[in-house]
Amino acid sequence: MIGRLTTPSKTPVSDDPRVIDGPRLILKTCLTRRESPIRPAKRGSRLNFDVLIVGGGIVGCAVARQLVTSNPGLHVGLVEKERSLACHTSGRNSGVIHSGFNQAPGTLKAKFCVDGNARLRAYCRSRGVKFEECGTLVLSRTEGERRVIRELERRGGLNGVPGLRIIDREELSRLEPNVVSAEALFSPTGSIVDSRGLVFSIAREAEERGAELIMGVKVVSLQVASPRVRVSTTAGDMECGLLINCAGLHADRIAKMIGLSRRYSIVPFKGQYYRLRDERKGLIRSMVYPPPDLEFPFLGVHLTKRVNGDIILGPNATLVGGREGYSIARYSVGDSLAMASFPGFIRASLNPRFARLVLGELHASASKKRFVERARELVPLIDEGDLVLDTAGIRAQLLNDRGELVDDFVLEWGHSSIHVLNSVSPGMTCAMPFAEYVVGQAIDRGYLNEG
Ligand SMILES: Cc1cc2nc3c(=O)[nH]c(=O)nc-3n(C[C@H](O)[C@H](O)[C@H](O)COP(=O)(O)OP(=O)(O)OC[C@H]3O[C@@H](n4cnc5c(N)ncnc54)[C@H](O)[C@@H]3O)c2cc1C
Repeated sequence: MIGRLTTPSKTPVSDDPRVIDGPRLILKTCLTRRESPIRPAKRGSRLNFDVLIVGGGIVGCAVARQLVTSNPGLHVGLVEKERSLACHTSGRNSGVIHSGFNQAPGTLKAKFCVDGNARLRAYCRSRGVKFEECGTLVLSRTEGERRVIRELERRGGLNGVPGLRIIDREELSRLEPNVVSAEALFSPTGSIVDSRGLVFSIAREAEERGAELIMGVKVVSLQVASPRVRVSTTAGDMECGLLINCAGLHADRIAKMIGLSRRYSIVPFKGQYYRLRDERKGLIRSMVYPPPDLEFPFLGVHLTKRVNGDIILGPNATLVGGREGYSIARYSVGDSLAMASFPGFIRASLNPRFARLVLGELHASASKKRFVERARELVPLIDEGDLVLDTAGIRAQLLNDRGELVDDFVLEWGHSSIHVLNSVSPGMTCAMPFAEYVVGQAIDRGYLNEG
């Protein structure tokens, strides 16, 4: 059990048993010193932590912030393999603070999304992170879609989404004159945020309260030497009493290093975005979604805003051959073979619905024209020439050994380690209450002492 450190060690660094063999020069961020975002750590840095977090995305940073806030004496470290925070999903998402009507009632995501929406907006207001409360619309143009938005309205009601209602064609055209639909589900709490700015703000708070953020260091293997965990990294060995794995696209691999996540594998779905040319930015004012296919955890190509005023379209959801395969050049033979040999993937491929989804998305992503056709179903005035290729993000979608796409967060508990799997959308919106939940569960299960 990890306790609060009441008396920091006064032993000279070189004799301190808490300093273990390893590198003497590693990169650490110094988010509080604006002039130098990354600086080398001093000789003899303590590479021995009470809690070590793997992953500098929003989940890892939110967990670090929660730990040092609720337990100020704890020595918390965070290792990130890139030289900056939020280089992967947390810095490549749509930046939408979701309202919480898409999630099935009773799931962790439903609970944390509604709570997270209110808390994130309050957080952004108090910390000066750029955000905008622009509202969300889900269109309904056919009888089938009418049923879907009523199901979303029902879910939203059960989840406690405030202000959610169905609006008619007239009200819709007052809100969005360029959108044509018989009716729409309107959620006033749908908002947008500067997602990278948000991660940096949360990380800065964690660092100010004592967490050490170590950049450019990759975890390569783990060994449980009960009750501690020995962590081998590209910069040498570290040790911790509790390891919290928030490694996003690689979280299952970190868990497998100590024999966990046997039933699961992450399959990467790439979400490509386009951006409207500046002259066409006036086409929409809020966020416009098609009704989702409730059988799959994807929302379909939609139009959202960025805090700088850009309008983005996407993401689609294309199965790709690399967990960081943002472009074909970054596809990985190893990732592709690992995915293809996972029994759950083979089972999923034999499921006609899954196969249709994957092939349909592949077909649609093969040309800009098909992407535009999807966008025009929402806003008919969009032309192919209006779109400029923009960024892509990759969804760390968990697949189980039965071949099912997992919808909710999954936490696996090992000896002295906790593993966050499947932190998929709306993971950014959920991050703060989810971090509180992870730390609360760690206390309840005896992994941490309270206070
Ligand atoms: C296309 C797309 C759009 C999305 N849009 C939204 C949205 O609008 N709203 C919303 O709420 N959610 C959205 N999401 C979901 C949200 O972005 C994610 O749930 C969230 O960012 C996940 O954060 P994370 O910290 O778990 O992962 P990440 O941000 O991927 O962070 C994990 C970190 O771990 C590091 N790492 C991995 N392996 C190692 C290792 N061995 N050693 C050290 N470090 C390691 C990685 O480099 C990475 O920085 C979207 C997701 C996608 C894919």
